[in-house]
Amino acid sequence: MLRYFRKKSIILDMILSSVLLPSWQKVTIYLLLSISASLYIHHLFYLYQEKHSLQNYLEGVIDRTEQSVFQMHASLNLAITNHQVACSNEDLNSMRKTLLKYPYIEDIGRITADHKLVCSALWGEFLPPIKLPDEGNKDNLFRISWPITNGLFVKGLRRAVFSSGDAFVIPSPATFTNLTRYARKTGVVLYSSKEQHIYRTFDDITLEEADRAISYPQDNVPWLPTDNNFLTLSICPEGFSFCATAIDKKTGYYDMSLGQWLWSILVGVFFGLLTAISWAIFKSNRRSLIYRLKYALKNDQIYSLYQPKVQLKTGKIIGIEALARWQDQELGTVSPDKFIACAEQNKLITPLTQQLVKKNLDDMRRYLQADSEFTLSINLSIQDLSNQSFLHFIEKQIKQRGIHPQQIIFEVTERSAAQNNVLKQATKRFLRKGYQISLDDFGTGFSNLSWLTAFEPNEIKIDRMFIQSIGTQTVNQITLDSIFQLVSNLDVKLVFEGIESLEEVDYLTQHTPNAIGQGWLYSKAVDAKTIGKLLKNQPFTSATFLANDVD
Ligand code: C2E
Ligand code: MG
Ligand code: MG
Repeated sequence: MLRYFRKKSIILDMILSSVLLPSWQKVTIYLLLSISASLYIHHLFYLYQEKHSLQNYLEGVIDRTEQSVFQMHASLNLAITNHQVACSNEDLNSMRKTLLKYPYIEDIGRITADHKLVCSALWGEFLPPIKLPDEGNKDNLFRISWPITNGLFVKGLRRAVFSSGDAFVIPSPATFTNLTRYARKTGVVLYSSKEQHIYRTFDDITLEEADRAISYPQDNVPWLPTDNNFLTLSICPEGFSFCATAIDKKTGYYDMSLGQWLWSILVGVFFGLLTAISWAIFKSNRRSLIYRLKYALKNDQIYSLYQPKVQLKTGKIIGIEALARWQDQELGTVSPDKFIACAEQNKLITPLTQQLVKKNLDDMRRYLQADSEFTLSINLSIQDLSNQSFLHFIEKQIKQRGIHPQQIIFEVTERSAAQNNVLKQATKRFLRKGYQISLDDFGTGFSNLSWLTAFEPNEIKIDRMFIQSIGTQTVNQITLDSIFQLVSNLDVKLVFEGIESLEEVDYLTQHTPNAIGQGWLYSKAVDAKTIGKLLKNQPFTSATFLANDVD
């Protein structure tokens, strides 16, 4: 049983380690940031909704207040312009008729100059008259008003009284019924716009809060959810001299339910993880060969080193081969086998070859111009060869630098038999223009004897593995010997790759006296400046062989 779980956990560990997982510290940071962002976005979202609802609520109050004020004015006007004897039966009856007309008016009656209510449509004559406090509010809406008067006609009854001339009205408490308030902890205060007398407050708002709300000059939206930072909206309708301010004391995430909190945290966790994983993928992509290669190409970071090609018999350098090199900040040294293949697969080889060719020609121009026999070997991919515009490109480049086409040798490696025809036609085009063609890595992969007749190359490069077989009596050495025989009848130069010892040189010169060789015995691939020194110190003799081990 235990063994089973151990085995399972190893498999699980392997799967997990193969998945791109960001570090825990990073995940924690992303989660914290994302949860905070999610909470804040949800706060704003709910705040926006609350603002919208509060606006509707406030507009409802304003609308009813406008109707109420209109009805109060109209009924007061009717009473004032009624010329019957105050409080007579006729006077009371006409005021009762007024009451029937205006549903938002509860009562209408007569008031004396010293603020005594004498009679009303509902109650008839007051005996004795009801004395109102002296200190009422004076404003330009009404002559005087008593916002909330307790126990006016009946004990415990709270009513507001508004007067004008010798008449007063009491607005109906039904005026503001059915006004839907969207949430708890909200309320509205109604007040005169100029003097800021509070006429009335609605719902959850204390007088102190109402005072505070009125003192806010503008709407206040608590973008920052600090404590005691209320959402307030005000409207002062045109043509009226009152204002209303609505207040919401619990907004955004102060008003979020447990479910809403959990939801916004969940959203935060989801996006936090998503960002962390996306970032990890992005980073790993950035470290990928293709991404780095594009970057290197853009920043011109790939260059060539040069390896001398030596006439084995004389030790004289007859040309050099350019070999691409790349040191990447992220990936370190990448071998040309790898990045050339990557460039070929991703259609980047043409710009890469062109970049390198320009550098190669610039680096070697001096030596090529100094000796018309001296050659520069450039490795080409099949895509370069079959690309029509490459021939124009190279022509332009060598012309600009005064180099002859026969000094340029293009090395071609065949990697699949299917490319045979394309390659044949392309090499012919290059040969016609005077360039030399070299069949690289001969004896490996698809490059075999039938190729020789098909391409008619100027040069064949025998792969390193055959040189390594010298003295081993293996199939490779037998093949090498038959290559000597075959080539002796053809008009083609023979270049041996990977020469590392004098014994190899002796063996090769015995079999083909005109053989050319390349290898670490002479020099590794070096920069252009070192090539200059090697050219000065040539020919290579046994004494110089070990001294040139530079790369
Ligand atoms: P290649 O054209 O056959 O190049 C010869 C390779 O053998 C080079 O490897 C060279 O550094 C290595 N070499 C030379 N002498 C010795 C030796 O004595 N001993 C050993 N063990 N190795 C030796 P490198 O530079 O890694 O290049 C690998 C291949 O990448 C090249 O093979 C060539 O096919 C390709 N390549 C290099 N540069 C370019 C380029 O600019 N364009 C294209 N298309 N291919 C390139
Ligand atoms: Mg080559
Ligand atoms: Mg080769």
